[in-house]
Amino acid sequence: TYVIAQPCVDLKDKACVDECPVDCIYEGRRKMYINPDECVDCGACEPVCPVEAIFFEDDVPGEWADFRRADTEFFAEL
Ligand code: SF4
Repeated sequence: TYVIAQPCVDLKDKACVDECPVDCIYEGRRKMYINPDECVDCGACEPVCPVEAIFFEDDVPGEWADFRRADTEFFAEL
């Protein structure tokens, strides 16, 4: 799955939402979230993010490693 990291917090540009072919990017209180059960790993969202907040889960920079779980936990709590 792809995940959305720190740069999205308090920004929520939402350019990614229009690109996602399966509509699996959802708005949270402070950032956007990708539902890992719905993401098909197409990568379409990654290049359109104006702040480069989106990464394939294995490519998340170390400083934002916690965000690898943030999206999964967000949907687990729903
Ligand atoms: Fe949607 Fe593709 Fe991005 Fe997954 S990688 S969130 S399916 S646009």
